[in-house]
Amino acid sequence: MSGIWCQSALIDADGASTTASGVRLEVQDGRISEIIAGVPPQTSDQLLNGVVFPAAANAHSHAFHRILRGRTHDGRGDFWVWREQMYRSAAELTPEKYEKLAAAVFAEMVVSGFSSVAEFHYVHHRPDGQPYAEAHAMELALARAARAAGIRLTLLDTLYLAGGIGSPLSPEQARFGDADAQAWLDRLASLRSEIARHFDPDVISVGAALHSVRGVPDGALKTVSEKLPHDMPLHIHLSEQPAENKACLGAYGVTPAGLLSRHGLLSRRLSAVHSTHLTSEDIQLLGSAGATVVMCPSTEADLADGIGPARALSDAGAKIALGTDQHAVIDPWVEMRTLEHGERLGSGQRGRFSPQELLRAATEGAADSMATPIAPALLQVGAVCDLMAVAPDSVRTAGSMPQQFPFSATASDVTDVIIAGELVASNGVHRRLGQPGHLLAEALKEFS
Ligand SMILES: [Zn+2]
Repeated sequence: MSGIWCQSALIDADGASTTASGVRLEVQDGRISEIIAGVPPQTSDQLLNGVVFPAAANAHSHAFHRILRGRTHDGRGDFWVWREQMYRSAAELTPEKYEKLAAAVFAEMVVSGFSSVAEFHYVHHRPDGQPYAEAHAMELALARAARAAGIRLTLLDTLYLAGGIGSPLSPEQARFGDADAQAWLDRLASLRSEIARHFDPDVISVGAALHSVRGVPDGALKTVSEKLPHDMPLHIHLSEQPAENKACLGAYGVTPAGLLSRHGLLSRRLSAVHSTHLTSEDIQLLGSAGATVVMCPSTEADLADGIGPARALSDAGAKIALGTDQHAVIDPWVEMRTLEHGERLGSGQRGRFSPQELLRAATEGAADSMATPIAPALLQVGAVCDLMAVAPDSVRTAGSMPQQFPFSATASDVTDVIIAGELVASNGVHRRLGQPGHLLAEALKEFS
């Protein structure tokens, strides 16, 4: 048992959020066992200044895309041109280089206020598509990287069989592939037991992903629907680009969401990433299934994807989560407000998502997307003790109401991060790994 004393914290007041002063948390086995507001600290308490929020959940990440930050903006081009640059970076990954890079990226997430990440992982094999001599070499490298950074990891092992509908994987995609859906299911089962043997399931767990309806043919979707274990979260990139919808309609006569529905893959365990270009029927399908939609607003803006119908999806019954995807920025606060800014720009209306809804999207919205536990939007007895303290007196936040920090704070205002009751980062420095900027600079030297 240990204690954490918060100078102030966002707490539940009959279902609404309110800021209380002097909030003391008892922590047992990494979870909050008691919350008392309006009390002084006890002598052995960990003290957190500022305003304490739950730590955020990053529901969509490709750690290696961090290589591309600030390096793809000369010239024009679209998503598909950017993808060529991304493939060049993927080609350079080895398990050793990826472990070092991912530890740095995960450390950047931790100091920014994230306590968990769903890593959408498809760089499985050697560049020629042959397996590494060590089974699951890439996947274990990512798991060790997450362990080093102290972030909770849902490792989404991804099925990626085709370069497009009706076309095989290209040579640069060879390392993403598996022989077929059954081979992937076998590899996934083996990975799951290997990870369970080495890691605490509250810290590192395995989930599943389908790259997209471009990358997974119709027959393979059927196999997955029949055989994927029901207790695994399942993610897919959905309708990120109009070209994907066009190809899917041309080949199957339905939209990507319609195709998933046809195979019985729309359910609460599904996380549809992006969901940018949807029909009204798609919105109803995802909503009535209670699926999670993972919006990645900074990436969608960066890649000129478009603005997905987040409000309509939420109104239809979908849960909204947030991800930093290609890591153009790693900042939960920026992601929250960029979601709402997209809605405002698209609709001409303010207040499409309330600040409290944005905070939920950054936290408990990802609960069904993750195989590891999530901190709810308001401190709660029984929940994991994953917290971030935010400075209320920075140049950005001074004068802001804490409930409205989604519109003023940035990751630079995160002063302390606690995961499972342990202090892991303070003022942008990771307590075990040091400055993420230095780690990133070192790791990125190894890539061209
Ligand atoms: Zn993605």
